[in-house]
Amino acid sequence: MTDDGLNRNIERLASLIAGASRIVVFTGAGVSTESGIPDFRSPGGIWSRFDPEEFTIYRFLASPETRLKQWKILVESGLIVNARPNGAHLAVAELEKLGKLDCVITQNIDNLHQKAGNDPGRVYELHGTMSHARCLGCQRRYAMAELLDRIRLDEGAPLCPECDGILKPDVIFFGEQLPAEALRHAVDHSRRCDLLIVVGSSLVVYPAAYMPVYAKEAGAAVAIVNLTVTDFDLQADVVIHGKAGEVMPLILEAVKRNLAAAVGNPA
Ligand code: NAD
Repeated sequence: MTDDGLNRNIERLASLIAGASRIVVFTGAGVSTESGIPDFRSPGGIWSRFDPEEFTIYRFLASPETRLKQWKILVESGLIVNARPNGAHLAVAELEKLGKLDCVITQNIDNLHQKAGNDPGRVYELHGTMSHARCLGCQRRYAMAELLDRIRLDEGAPLCPECDGILKPDVIFFGEQLPAEALRHAVDHSRRCDLLIVVGSSLVVYPAAYMPVYAKEAGAAVAIVNLTVTDFDLQADVVIHGKAGEVMPLILEAVKRNLAAAVGNPA
């Protein structure tokens, strides 16, 4: 994308944002790569190092050895330790402060939208979260940071400190149902929005990837901010190929200029 093309698309998206009243931001792993968390499908991403087959619920339940392997991959992927929101997360949080955000629907499990300042009640996590773990026996829920102080992965698959049951990160493994409440809200908001902005998703993991489809079917505009081409690009109203952490703050600045101009108070 040329600089001119990029700037034009940033301005187009900013004016769509300024004119919209129910904006949904739909995010995937690409929004967090600049926070040091690899995505799944980019070169060097998680799938180039681990087999997706590892992340089935069947494997998780199969044996303490497979369970430990999954725990280690998730903990060592950098999802929890010290990951900080980047410019893209902060721009999305700022959209909420400007009154321009209905909700965030995320496939991510890294909690970075909440860390950036989005109201947790407006963040729908379709694939769960690494911020907590749950005991499959007594159902106790543990904050991951505190749990990791209490368990040692070099001693084997973690067990519930209270009942010795199987501890499972609160994320959705392949073969598991998506959390029903989060999915219901995500579908509702996608069908009722007037603008849905995809940020950092390859749009190949379903049912999450239906959200832009629902929005488009309901007559909303759809914008995509992603490093690489997606199958939905041709149907989108605006497509920006670039790094979310660089592009989203530029979009935010352009939105602020638009809003200021609309009240006759040029920034
Ligand atoms: P994906 O890996 O399939 O796609 C990521 C997309 O983001 C790619 O198209 C890539 O080109 C793009 N991208 C990478 N860096 C970018 C950047 N800096 N700016 C803009 N775009 C960038 O990820 P997905 O679509 O989210 O779906 C796969 C699954 O990955 C989801 O189920 C999610 O739960 C899981 N996941 C989450 C995390 C996380 O929580 N941070 C990390 C890895 C995987």
